[in-house]
Amino acid sequence: MSEKINIRGVLFNNVTLEEAVSYLVSSLEDGKQTALFTPNSEIVQNCIENPELYDVINSGELIIPDGIGVVKAGRILRTPFKGGKVAGIEVGEELIRRLAGGDHKVFFLGGKPGVAEAAADSLTKKYPGIQFAGFSDGYFSKEGEENDSVIEKINSTDADVLYVCLGAPTQEKWIYANRARLKNIKIMLALGGSLDGYAGNVKRAPKIFIKLGLEWFYRLLCEPWRFKRMLKLPKFYFGTWIYKLKNK
Ligand code: UDP
Repeated sequence: MSEKINIRGVLFNNVTLEEAVSYLVSSLEDGKQTALFTPNSEIVQNCIENPELYDVINSGELIIPDGIGVVKAGRILRTPFKGGKVAGIEVGEELIRRLAGGDHKVFFLGGKPGVAEAAADSLTKKYPGIQFAGFSDGYFSKEGEENDSVIEKINSTDADVLYVCLGAPTQEKWIYANRARLKNIKIMLALGGSLDGYAGNVKRAPKIFIKLGLEWFYRLLCEPWRFKRMLKLPKFYFGTWIYKLKNK
């Protein structure tokens, strides 16, 4: 589709939120199976440290920069993103808005028991006419029989849109391993904790934090146990400067 931007080996699409949603809608209309991945700098750093993850992440047909660290890296490497940060949670909601009133059906996979249903209730209030075909929580073994029955459950519905919200990189690995078995699903969105967001269990940062590029900091204040994971952020940021100086 669009021009690709290579950020430390992850091949992002240079798109705005609008373009990302339109691409998903047209893939759905064309019946072309498409996966949306939304890596942040933690995931890119994960790829750098575990290179086998590159194949998984780069297998997504649409890869958007869902993190200020990735956007900053784009500037450092002189390949800026035209749309800045494109938040997966917003793409997911805008897609629901666009599909409401149409024939397509959505399946929500992920989150603790009850979260997917609560997310659907709240989205249905906002976008009446959106059709949900099924729900499944995200706490199952990602291989073997339990996994098979999740796939059977999805295949037993007429859903063609699947939100996979299992946390990263579990959700990307799950899509990579299982997409060929999803018979009716045309588009798959890997959206981390978005169902918690739609359900209202986890609040997004106030606008001022988002505007200042400090959404990560707000998240750290609310969920301090993320500290260890977040150490990947400075590692990625300074690593990108070093990478740039070495590759001048
Ligand atoms: N989750 C899940 N299954 C698991 C582990 C996590 O469904 O085996 C869910 C969890 O309930 C939460 C989401 O995945 O809703 C992860 O959210 P987080 O904000 O941590 O996403 P990330 O930042 O990892 O993309």
